[in-house]
Amino acid sequence: MFNLSVSDEQKALRDLARRFTQTEIVPIAAEADRMEEYPWELVEKAHAIGLTNIIVPEEYGGGGLGYFEDCLVAEEIAAGCAGIYSSFAASTLGLTPLNVAATPEQMERFMKPFCAEPALAAFCLTEPGAGSDIASVRTRARRDGDFYVLNGTKRFVTNGGVAELYTVTATVDPSLRHRGLVLLVVPSHLPGVSVGKKEDKMGQRAASTREVIFEDVWVPLENRLGDDREGFRLVMETLDKIRAEVAAAAVGVARAAMEAAVKYAKEREQFGQPIISLQGIQFMLADMAIKVEAARLLVWQAAWMADQGLRNSYQSAIAKCFAAESAMKITTDAVQIFGGYGYTKEYPVEKYMRDAKLLQIYEGTSEIQRVVISRGLLHEYRAI
Ligand SMILES: Cc1cc2nc3c(=O)[nH]c(=O)nc-3n(C[C@H](O)[C@H](O)[C@H](O)COP(=O)(O)OP(=O)(O)OC[C@H]3O[C@@H](n4cnc5c(N)ncnc54)[C@H](O)[C@@H]3O)c2cc1C
Repeated sequence: MFNLSVSDEQKALRDLARRFTQTEIVPIAAEADRMEEYPWELVEKAHAIGLTNIIVPEEYGGGGLGYFEDCLVAEEIAAGCAGIYSSFAASTLGLTPLNVAATPEQMERFMKPFCAEPALAAFCLTEPGAGSDIASVRTRARRDGDFYVLNGTKRFVTNGGVAELYTVTATVDPSLRHRGLVLLVVPSHLPGVSVGKKEDKMGQRAASTREVIFEDVWVPLENRLGDDREGFRLVMETLDKIRAEVAAAAVGVARAAMEAAVKYAKEREQFGQPIISLQGIQFMLADMAIKVEAARLLVWQAAWMADQGLRNSYQSAIAKCFAAESAMKITTDAVQIFGGYGYTKEYPVEKYMRDAKLLQIYEGTSEIQRVVISRGLLHEYRAI
């Protein structure tokens, strides 16, 4: 039977995330953004109450829940601060390739100790010359006996320098393009792993985004996920699974901006009346609500499909593209409703707008989502 209801357990998890956001994140969000510092104690607090590692099976110390529950939590946390959300999300992104392809032995070796303590993971894919075009990765994984020797520089790594575990995409031979890619689990303490430049960002400034450098890092063969040269497929599967979560975060940022705009429009008076009584303002708010509700349903569809083990490339790309673009439009309109005050740091809407922009760029730009969607239309589209 078709069912859109959220169970009591899921509601309890969402309420927990909402309370955590209100009490722990909202009060420090503006300062973390201004100082460009990640509040590490939040990882400890979130870990203590079970808001981290949600998608990791229980037997390895995780929450044992699905991508749907992960999305419920993401919407709440991003509504408080998208930068703080991104740090949690990058950790989930870093762990997802293990969920997708790790053997039970690898899960035991990596996940159990990781989940036992407050910790962050990171996903190292992007390079100076390889952004949207993943097949042009140049970080080299040269095979030497039972090891890969890793050399290269990754750019824009969220949690770079604070993560304990990196999942790294490298190539055994750049001329093979996507067929040469391997995915390796690299603990950050291995000799030869270091961090480079920290990015000075427009938004989501609480998250640490840095270069991660690998110089003659000897990675044991047993740290490889999947088979040799299977990296491209695993990266694609990882992104398909996790894109709904970025879309959920976009819903969170958009919802926060909409709620702030409604509140302000009720309070602000011009021409002898609250501006919310002006139809021009009401219609802008109504358009926000349409986008928030529609985006959330797309998120739920894509996440539900991931949890059912269904291929969701098309649906997750639509969810990510629509939700991110809606968040950008809604946050921009929220600034408009606040007028001149919206353009200042006195109110949170300018931060929502800066934070929303990144949602259209990372984990595949909006243009790349359209590439995936077009491919789906041409070759494999199936309604669920
Ligand atoms: C703050 C931040 C955090 C990030 N975190 C991570 C992380 O944790 N791990 C990680 O690996 N990466 C991360 N990234 C990298 C991010 O995923 C890339 O920036 C993104 O994929 C785009 O790559 P690029 O910046 O090289 O842009 P490019 O690929 O150079 O794209 C430039 C422009 O060309 C367009 N374009 C490219 N190809 C096509 C096409 N085929 N059709 C139409 N248009 C196209 C793009 O949409 C874009 O508008 C992060 C980036 C930022 C800014």
